[in-house]
Amino acid sequence: MMKRITGLTGLVAGALALTACDGMVMGGEIASDLDIPEVEAGELSEATMIDITRTLSSDEFEGRMPGTPGEEKTVALLTERFEAAGLQPGNGDSWVQEVPLVEITGKNFAPLTITNGETDLVYDFASEWVGVTYREDAQTQLANSEMVFVGYGINAPERDWNDYEGVDVTGKTVVVLVNDPDWETEGLDGKFNGKAMTFYGRWTYKYEEAARQGAAGVLIVHDTEPASYGWNVVESSWQGAQAYPQRGDNAPTFTTMNGWVQKEVAREVLAAAGQDLDELTAAAKTQDFQAVELGMTASTSFENDIRTFESQNVIGVLPGSEAPDEYVIHTAHWDHLGRCPAAPDGDDICNGAVDNATGTAALVALAEAHAKAGAPRRSLVFLAVTAEESGLLGAYYYASNPVFPLDQTVGGINMDAFQVAGPAKDVTVVGPGKSQLDWFMNAALQADGRVATANPKPEAGYYYRSDHFAFAKQGVPMLYIDGGEDLIDGGTEAGAAVAADYTENRYHGPKDEFNEEWDWSGVMADLQLFYRIGRSMAASTSWPNWNEGDEFKATRDESCASSDQGC
Ligand SMILES: [Zn+2]
Repeated sequence: MMKRITGLTGLVAGALALTACDGMVMGGEIASDLDIPEVEAGELSEATMIDITRTLSSDEFEGRMPGTPGEEKTVALLTERFEAAGLQPGNGDSWVQEVPLVEITGKNFAPLTITNGETDLVYDFASEWVGVTYREDAQTQLANSEMVFVGYGINAPERDWNDYEGVDVTGKTVVVLVNDPDWETEGLDGKFNGKAMTFYGRWTYKYEEAARQGAAGVLIVHDTEPASYGWNVVESSWQGAQAYPQRGDNAPTFTTMNGWVQKEVAREVLAAAGQDLDELTAAAKTQDFQAVELGMTASTSFENDIRTFESQNVIGVLPGSEAPDEYVIHTAHWDHLGRCPAAPDGDDICNGAVDNATGTAALVALAEAHAKAGAPRRSLVFLAVTAEESGLLGAYYYASNPVFPLDQTVGGINMDAFQVAGPAKDVTVVGPGKSQLDWFMNAALQADGRVATANPKPEAGYYYRSDHFAFAKQGVPMLYIDGGEDLIDGGTEAGAAVAADYTENRYHGPKDEFNEEWDWSGVMADLQLFYRIGRSMAASTSWPNWNEGDEFKATRDESCASSDQGC
């Protein structure tokens, strides 16, 4: 929902001034106490969008897995196109920032065997469970590890919640539910923000917390609705090569194995332990939940191929005319999943055409348009990050090792997957009401005669699922805007059908492929919006901040307080 900034005066008259609730349309309100210059529309090339998306998602690029020949081809193409667009190299005289990664590929998986000493339950890898290790071990062995059901696996002192209280899980395997305890409530009120997913609901958090608790293994119980994706996505994403940051000397401790099980597997295991999954799930939603020792053990083993390598973020800059040391950033991840489990027709390349060849192409199209329009006041940065699909690794690396100081970075816009089913009246704002960047967005929406729909699925936690989050965590205000669902041809019903088809049949699978039939007019309209927002931020003298009460505001304020220039 859109929060008014306290003390804000003088909303532009004639604005639509709709009352915005979660899931409702908003738009038109523009704060007058920020400098939000009006900007001309950009000359954005549809040919660039089509050419680059088609090329990046061709089989020749093999799904753009970091550290493969697909990376070399992608980096070469982006460098060439950034240069041709008229950008300068972003990292000194280099177009890239090296990102040290390690790739771990599991193989020869033994089944997952769960026993209470009498009955053995045996589960097949991929179809019933998946597992990886974050450790750089050639051999992973989980041997007779005692199992504990820990509900949502959350330890959040600031919310007075600890699923690990009173239980020692050292060396044990924890069984964890996906999402957070109040995901099924209607509104956004609740200990874990109601139906909106908090960071505590993400699998990354579950694995990190279990490791802090000393667990040996983690099995997240997959459930399509609270996970917001099907088992097919888990199956394709958790197999094959997995990339992680190179850890160095201060590596955190990791569990032996991080995995997922199908919901029916969890149901069967709990039943063998004399427990009921639905009852335990209901109990886990309450504050007085107590972890349950299951009296069962889990065992499996597998081998790992380990390879360290340098991946690359690609960075170009259009230096500002008056304030070249102030930066506005456009981000998109160039990587995708590479080779993945084959579709029935044998196709085993996850081409990532929508996700995120479109966003990567958009960086080039934006660079061309901004360069053509001439340098704005502030510098514009175009950052194509690596290893988003492995956990935002390229973005985290940049945000921890910024080429341009974060307190001199005004804010940014992330692009991850354009909607290719034709023009929509709206765009989808993921995490609206978070920062004053909304006012720049609203001005651009108004200029283009469009509206924004706020977070139709806050329970999916999308604000934590792409690269902008890595910047937000370091305090940099970031917008994340997706394609709309209210299609000009067919309305919200057609839009919902397109979105559902993508999630079920294409997302993170071999069928996210380029299609010559796509209607690019919607993509170009969304791109125009991103151009206007970036251009206006780059022309502005203001330093938009996070809104009062936002989780990232304290970090930004601290970063700005210690800075003698910039924010
Ligand atoms: Zn993506």
